[in-house]
Amino acid sequence: MSSTLASDRVTARLERARAAARQAGVDALVITPGPDLQYLTGVVKHSHERLSALLLPVDGDAAFVVPTLERPGLDGTAVDAMEVLTWTDGVDPHALAASRLAASRVGGARRVAVVADMPAVHVLGLRDALPQASLELATPVLRELRMRKDDVEVDALRRAGAAIDAVHARVPGWLVAGRTEAEVGADITAAILEEGHTEAAFVIVGSGPNGASPHHEVSDRVIQAGDVVVVDIGGPLPEGYNSDSTRTYVVGEPADEVRDVYAVLQHAQAAAVAAARPGVTAESVDEAARAIIRDAGHGEYFVHRTGHGIGLEVHEEPYIVAGNDLVLEPGMAFSIEPGIYFPGRWGARIEDIVVVTDDGCEPVNRQPHDLLSC
Ligand code: ZN
Ligand code: ZN
Ligand code: ZN
Repeated sequence: MSSTLASDRVTARLERARAAARQAGVDALVITPGPDLQYLTGVVKHSHERLSALLLPVDGDAAFVVPTLERPGLDGTAVDAMEVLTWTDGVDPHALAASRLAASRVGGARRVAVVADMPAVHVLGLRDALPQASLELATPVLRELRMRKDDVEVDALRRAGAAIDAVHARVPGWLVAGRTEAEVGADITAAILEEGHTEAAFVIVGSGPNGASPHHEVSDRVIQAGDVVVVDIGGPLPEGYNSDSTRTYVVGEPADEVRDVYAVLQHAQAAAVAAARPGVTAESVDEAARAIIRDAGHGEYFVHRTGHGIGLEVHEEPYIVAGNDLVLEPGMAFSIEPGIYFPGRWGARIEDIVVVTDDGCEPVNRQPHDLLSC
C-alpha cells in the first residue's frame, strides 16, 4: 500500500495532534483504522477484531501496533518511520499497547483518548490493560485539526466538487418521463465512477412526492411529465475526500407554485453562502437561509439543518445548525443545502460545498442553481 499523504504532512499532523492533546490535558491518543488514522498518517485500513492502532503519546514517539501477518500491507506508508509492534495469536495486543504507552509518560497513566469509531472490543481491552488510566473520546482533540482543512485538503475538495459537477451536467439527459428513479440512479452511479470517484456513496433521485423525503434514495416510481426531481449525489475520490451536491430538476415545464417556491429556496441558499465567512457563527449561516424561507411562509417545510462539514467523511464537523455557536474560520468546509418539502407532494433542495476563505467562502460546486428543465 502506498501512502496517500507526504511524509512531511504526516509529521506536521502528528505534531499538531500531540499539541492539541497536550493542551486538552490528554496523555496519549490511541487511533484505530478509520478517518482519523487516514487524516493523521494517510493509512487506509479496515478496522476489525484484531487490534491495529497508532499509539501517539504526547511526550514520546509514535508507535504502531499491527498483527504480524498484516505488517507487509503497511510497507511504503508513514508507519515505516515508526516503531512497529507486531503481534501474533497468543499475545494480548491490548497489553502490548499498554506496555508501550507505559514506556512513555502514561505509565501512571491518567488520560488516554480513543477515537470515536474504535470497536468496543478494543476499548474494553484497553480499559482492562490500563487499569490506572481513564479512557475518553479523542473527538474533541481531533476535531480541532480535521475541521480546519489545509491546502492539500481544500484542493481535494475542489477536485471532488468538479467531479460531481460533471455528473450533474449529464443528469438532464437521463431524467426522462417514463423511466424509473432506479434506472436514472443506475446511470448516475455509473457516471459517478466514470468521473473519478471510487464509489457512489449515495444516490438520491426523489421524484414527485419522493422529493419531499430528504433522505429518500431511489425507488421503482416512474417519473412523470411535470415532476420536480431532487438529485443529491456524491462519494469519495481516491484520496478519500468526498463530494456531495444537490440540484433540483423539473421534467418539462414547472407549475407556477413550483417556480415561486423554488425562487425562495434559491434566494435562501445564496443568502447562506453570502453569510458564511470567518468570524460568524455556524448557527448564523443556518439562520440566514432559514429566515428567508420562514418569511416566505414555508418555515415549517424546511425540516433539516442547513449543512454539515465534509472531508474524509460525508458528515463531520462543523454542523451548520441552530445552537452551534462555533465561530467559522478559514479552511472550514461544509455544505449549504436548504430545502423545502411539501409532504406527499414535492420537494426541492440546492446543495453546494463551500470552503471558508479569508473574507468569505468559496463554493467548490459550480453547476447553475436554477430549476433545470429536462
Ligand atoms: Zn444526510
Ligand atoms: Zn447531499
Ligand atoms: Zn449534504
